[in-house]
Amino acid sequence: MKLNYLMPTKIVLGENCIFTNRALLGDLGKKALMVTGRNSAKQNGSGADAVKALETNGQSYYLYDKVMSNPTVDCAFDAAALAQREHCDFVLVIGGGSPMDAGKAAAAIAVSPVEKSAFFSTTFTKALPIAAVPTTAGTGSEVTPYAILTNDGAQTKTSIASPAIFPRYAFLDPAYMKDMGSATTINTALDALSHSIEGMLTIRASVFTDPMAKAGITAFAECVPALKAGTPDLAVREKLLWASTLGGMVISNTGTTAVHAMGYRLTYFKNIDHGRANGLLLGKFLRFVAEKEKAIGGNRIGEILGAMGLENLDEFEAIMDALLGQREKISNEELENYAEASINAKNITNTGIRPNKAELLSILKGSVDLRNGVFGL
Ligand code: NAP
Ligand code: FE
Repeated sequence: MKLNYLMPTKIVLGENCIFTNRALLGDLGKKALMVTGRNSAKQNGSGADAVKALETNGQSYYLYDKVMSNPTVDCAFDAAALAQREHCDFVLVIGGGSPMDAGKAAAAIAVSPVEKSAFFSTTFTKALPIAAVPTTAGTGSEVTPYAILTNDGAQTKTSIASPAIFPRYAFLDPAYMKDMGSATTINTALDALSHSIEGMLTIRASVFTDPMAKAGITAFAECVPALKAGTPDLAVREKLLWASTLGGMVISNTGTTAVHAMGYRLTYFKNIDHGRANGLLLGKFLRFVAEKEKAIGGNRIGEILGAMGLENLDEFEAIMDALLGQREKISNEELENYAEASINAKNITNTGIRPNKAELLSILKGSVDLRNGVFGL
């Protein structure tokens, strides 16, 4: 057996952890580029806590608070230009996956001048040091070497991957999620679930990543009643947060599967939130893998269901249906285009039991509420 596992991010968890552990930030440099979304960091206390920690350390900062959902290459380049202009020597990313990814990309661009048109084909080998404060429990970007940006040239979302953009520190404080609305809570939690499940179904799943994936899946399952009721308390928020970080620790080494490959198309063309897009696809993808396992052997789906405390995929799909509600209507022709476009994505070759184009289409069709009323594989 030949294996490796890398997780260079130091993780601290707990209420007020950024201030309590501010000495870690003190190590990173003199001036931070603080990267956030437009509103939430100002509203949930994370921005103010970070400023208090930096000021107490005697560090200065410049705020870039313009990251949109599904950030663009332009956005990452704007942030990088500010880091250079303001002589920032580290990057503090605060928010959901969108600000974290835009800030991580900016940290690389700031020290590796590159044309925008060459961004996705560049292998970045260095970056400004990064600290991350996730304020959604979903992407796990605080512990991954990925930054995922909208790629208009390829009409999808595309990741860059480099060990240089692993955050040095991740500060996990569930209190920032207290007032998050139900839709964002569910959609982001579905992303976390998807990462752990997909990690187990990649060709790179290993004895290092499987236990973390199963722990993340179990934690998600324990949060389902509160997610359904729309009443997650702080203990549930905390569990969702570390489940999300576990999912990130899994995919940081395994990557994702056909689910993310297809999900990116749903987000790009239909503006469906990233986590929801994955959630829509999970049930039928698991059915596809289960069918194949019957023929070729294997029990990954049984292991996933076991981690959730479920007997079968009907129970799994019932949970997904309850959390997702009414599914989007997408025409057959559009789904055919998504299957065609997804088949060459790198996440497809990373998938253990790999669907062909017809099978991708079948999963897509079964995952949405079709105009012609067909539902199911
Ligand atoms: P997001 O786009 O970062 O945020 C979604 C919404 O939630 C925004 O409106 C945001 O507001 C709001 N929000 C953030 N924190 C909040 C809080 N504590 N309370 C209330 N509202 C809050 O969504 P996301 O699902 O976290 O991230 C999705 C992105 O991450 C996608 O681009 C996806 O491709 C990427 N992703 C990256 C990785 C990776 O490893 N790098 C893995 C999976 C997904 P503001 O805009 O005002 O902040
Ligand atoms: Fe994701």
